[in-house]
Amino acid sequence: MIDGGRLWRRLSELGEIGKQEEGGVTRLSFTDEERAAKDRVASYMVEAGLSVREDAAGNLFGRREGKTRDAPVVLIGSHVDSVYNGGNFDGPLGVLAGIEVLQTMDERGMETEHPIEVVAFTDEEGARFSFGMIGSRALAGRLSPDELEHEDADGLSVAEVMRSRGLDPERIGEAARPRGSVRAYVELHIEQGRILENEDLPVGVVTGIAGPVWLRFILEGETGHSGTTPMNLRRDALAAAAEIIGVIEAEAAATGTTVGTVGQLDLEPGGINIIPGRVEFSLDLRDIDQAVRDPTEERILEKAGDLCRRRGVRLEVETLQRLSPAPCSELVRDAAKRACERLGVRPFALPSGAGHDGMQLTDLCPMGMIFVRSKNGVSHSPDEWSTKEDCSAGADALYWAVLDLAGGV
Ligand SMILES: [Zn+2]
Repeated sequence: MIDGGRLWRRLSELGEIGKQEEGGVTRLSFTDEERAAKDRVASYMVEAGLSVREDAAGNLFGRREGKTRDAPVVLIGSHVDSVYNGGNFDGPLGVLAGIEVLQTMDERGMETEHPIEVVAFTDEEGARFSFGMIGSRALAGRLSPDELEHEDADGLSVAEVMRSRGLDPERIGEAARPRGSVRAYVELHIEQGRILENEDLPVGVVTGIAGPVWLRFILEGETGHSGTTPMNLRRDALAAAAEIIGVIEAEAAATGTTVGTVGQLDLEPGGINIIPGRVEFSLDLRDIDQAVRDPTEERILEKAGDLCRRRGVRLEVETLQRLSPAPCSELVRDAAKRACERLGVRPFALPSGAGHDGMQLTDLCPMGMIFVRSKNGVSHSPDEWSTKEDCSAGADALYWAVLDLAGGV
């Protein structure tokens, strides 16, 4: 269906922009590299016969008109910014596949009722300002000028770098699309996990985007001499933490869908012959269903409280971040499922553990995603890889799903 060779060539070309000695790409938002990537993407949009423009947030759009000119637009795309030394597929695949889909429609003389736009969102990754999804937040009308004060490592704010790129942060509101103006948002993206590889499938239909809760556990026990303190007289903060981590693993696993990770742990004083008196550790708990995630969190906290009381350890829990999961809409999931069937691929549903721009759009329009198999599940790394065949299959699935949603089949 789509031209897999052309898609692959563009992916390779775009991968040269911001290429690092270590083998990955670094394209942080509002840098020369990101600008060059957007310019290259804009040139592909022109080749595809699309009309090109950028909005007040720097989001880049290529539009193809529908038969009904004022009908709500079907929006497809992703991002071209990256993390530090990231991979070449996370983001660019969705943008370039979107262009490929519209160019194919053009070449085949396909008409659709609804107009279709490809978007390259500004700063999805958040690598520069530790505040991502700037473009999609703006498009959803969820971003105000005062939220543009996040600073990068050099102390430059989002607002300042926007000005240096000719954008007016005070006018960020103009990027917001009115409700009812977007029929659906569909994003093709690499899975960044190994579920599809495990199922031996090139593509899958995303059920929802997981929302993370980030907690910090602070345990205060009592420091003591490891040789002179009998086991029954200890208030070992690390032993308590170890038990809580076991509870986290068991409670998350018991749901079948929730994932819980303790990725940071600090202990004091940290001597080989000293009982740890204080421990701090993080928890990242995610699920695509809040009705599963939140009770899991409650059970973990209840058990943690009980076992700390039993051990004479004081427990304090801080919430660092709490994002709502974003279920994908039936409308988009069904279209993606039918697209898989057309391609002869078993429709397979899987969640997204990672965050994506679609999360920001749930109040604006029906949202959904199609995943492409990732080699070894590796992402945010120069080793990130999806085969040419799988990228083509993903773009083909996107083609049929978009044609379906835009009223062309
Ligand atoms: Zn991405």
